[in-house]
Amino acid sequence: MKDVELNAIYSKIFNSTVVAIGITNVDAKYTMVNPAWTQYLGYDQEEAKKLSLLDVTPLEDREGNILNFSRLVNQDIPSIRTTRRYLCKDGSTFWADLHATALFDEDGEVISVMGQFVNIDPQKRAELDLERLNTRLTDANIELQEAMDKLQIMARRDPLTKLYNRRVLEEVIEHEIHRSFRSKRGLGVAIGDIDDFKKINDTYGHDCGDLVLVELAKVLRSNIRNSDVVGRWGGEEFLFILPETTLNGAMVVIERIRRAVSKMRIDCSGTEVTFTMSLGLSYQTTDPQRETIVSEADKALYKAKADGKNRGYCFQELKL
Ligand code: GH3
Ligand code: MG
Ligand code: MG
Repeated sequence: MKDVELNAIYSKIFNSTVVAIGITNVDAKYTMVNPAWTQYLGYDQEEAKKLSLLDVTPLEDREGNILNFSRLVNQDIPSIRTTRRYLCKDGSTFWADLHATALFDEDGEVISVMGQFVNIDPQKRAELDLERLNTRLTDANIELQEAMDKLQIMARRDPLTKLYNRRVLEEVIEHEIHRSFRSKRGLGVAIGDIDDFKKINDTYGHDCGDLVLVELAKVLRSNIRNSDVVGRWGGEEFLFILPETTLNGAMVVIERIRRAVSKMRIDCSGTEVTFTMSLGLSYQTTDPQRETIVSEADKALYKAKADGKNRGYCFQELKL
């Protein structure tokens, strides 16, 4: 085939292919583009020749594209296959699958860079939408998990003092009774009740009463072992579960709590409020019973109140 005929075929291919072809010089100025290129970008042939690579690249992508272009011109790499965005004449953008190659003269010098691309905008946007959707889904899952964690905490804690609520305490008692039965070690359950709490509310107001409960909760927590449990049993009543201890050990804890409470000083809007707590303990060995252990603690507490408050009694020692 003669050169003229071959050139005619090359020209037909260049002009009719669906692949967009744009050729720039080493300064990134367009020197030649094919009809597919003009269709995608919205410029005609004459306009295209006044453009540089930057003109058809969205602002935020320019740095990366120029870097790739320089690597081709400097012969760091022979070609690049990449997914990139093009900026059209009307300001819209589209994603393209680009193959860019350096073109050399007879001396092996780079004279041009040829970029060939097909428009992959619909696929790429669907891919990005999916990614965004996945991110949102992940975020929503995290939020859901956090909400569920919060809900679980709320279901187990008293909202004011943040101590375990009565439901949890009942579960723990049940659990500790079984453990005590197996380990043959004694179990102590105590109830502490603030003395004359009604007076605090009546004298200083309900908010002050709430503050007392919040501060008291901290003191109670800090005066028991890690293996002991304290929770809010009712209004101003707190229940302690003291596993794997002796009667004497349990009494030491009760006395320590009673003393710590009597030393508390609460600042209620400038007024110093003090108060005391009475406590009742039941200590059962060998086969603790859920039905009796709490009611025995309650009976000891009742006696402590009757005997003048601010004291801690043990049911088993009272011989009621
Ligand atoms: P006693 O020494 O016999 O225990 O007397 P008391 O006044 O402490 O006991 P009483 O049972 O007569 O009153 C308890 C008070 O505790 C009444 C109730 O309004 C108050 N109370 C219960 N829960 C809360 C609360 O969450 N916040 C406040 N501020 N007060 C509470
Ligand atoms: Mg009370
Ligand atoms: Mg009470």
